[in-house]
Amino acid sequence: MGMKSMKYKLYFFLFLLFGLLLLSSFKAAAADESFTVTVKDGYRIYQAPEKPAAGQTLIVALQALDKKSRKNKTQLSRMTFLEHNFQLEAVAGGWRGIAAVPLGTRTGTYNLKVQSQAGTALVLPVAVVDHDYGEQRLTVKREMATPMRPENLAKIKKDRHDLKIAYGASAPRLLISDHLRQPLNSPLTSPFGTRRLLNGKPKSPHGGVDFKAAIGVPVPAAAAGRVVLAEELYYSGRIVIIDHGLSIFSLYMHLSEIDCRVGDQVTAGQIIGKSGKSGRVTGPHLHWGIKIAGVFVDPLRFVNDSEELLQIPWQTENQESKNGKSEL
Ligand SMILES: [Zn+2]
Repeated sequence: MGMKSMKYKLYFFLFLLFGLLLLSSFKAAAADESFTVTVKDGYRIYQAPEKPAAGQTLIVALQALDKKSRKNKTQLSRMTFLEHNFQLEAVAGGWRGIAAVPLGTRTGTYNLKVQSQAGTALVLPVAVVDHDYGEQRLTVKREMATPMRPENLAKIKKDRHDLKIAYGASAPRLLISDHLRQPLNSPLTSPFGTRRLLNGKPKSPHGGVDFKAAIGVPVPAAAAGRVVLAEELYYSGRIVIIDHGLSIFSLYMHLSEIDCRVGDQVTAGQIIGKSGKSGRVTGPHLHWGIKIAGVFVDPLRFVNDSEELLQIPWQTENQESKNGKSEL
């Protein structure tokens, strides 16, 4: 092969690389405009994504366009979607909120109802897509799969009560100022959403992801928030639950050590405990979950989706048009 053809090959390769880089930058720009917009009944409704999947969140922002919808400002309070209630937070010019699609939801169109104290203020049909997360078979000690001992049954009952109180304590406004970060970067030993058979018996699907972790790895908070639970539960072992506002909770399970207390305000990245193998496990790991108003969502997907949650779309648009003018 001559030097000339080698040279052309190199040029061709560089040309390809440049093309790929250009393409990826366009993709990134498109991701910033990921809201789908609908104008209805005096509101401009922003949603992301357009078609959420089962186990995924739906971010909603509502801009009041006329006097009547602005007047509702003091009254709009929540959204109902797939039989769950999701909070709305008043922001300059409108509201924002986050809904979630429960695992097992079938493909179809479901009504998101925006509620004011006077009743339903707005109905938005939302297309949802089914998602199959697969199946997993696990073997654990019998008393962990199907507890029989009275003291264990009593402990589980107390745990349920404690969890109910913890989940009832969410702030009515978003407490995070940056998107979520996954607590560990180690490989996953179990993904989100798998249907689980424990000792051959069907149980609830996997509500989070399992990160590979030896005992004693420091576990950071995924985002800023307030600790609403920090204790040992029968199934979860030593667990920390953090409220991030608007009924968004992050969960850290099977810890060997808890390094925070209920009521603590934690910052993003603050160490809240150490990984371990407490509770119902097959070995040491970190189980990390995100629960939104009672609905478990894929935490790794939410790491990306939480970017949109922090944007107030009409403010970003104003900023962009202002910037455009100053350039003239
Ligand atoms: Zn797990």
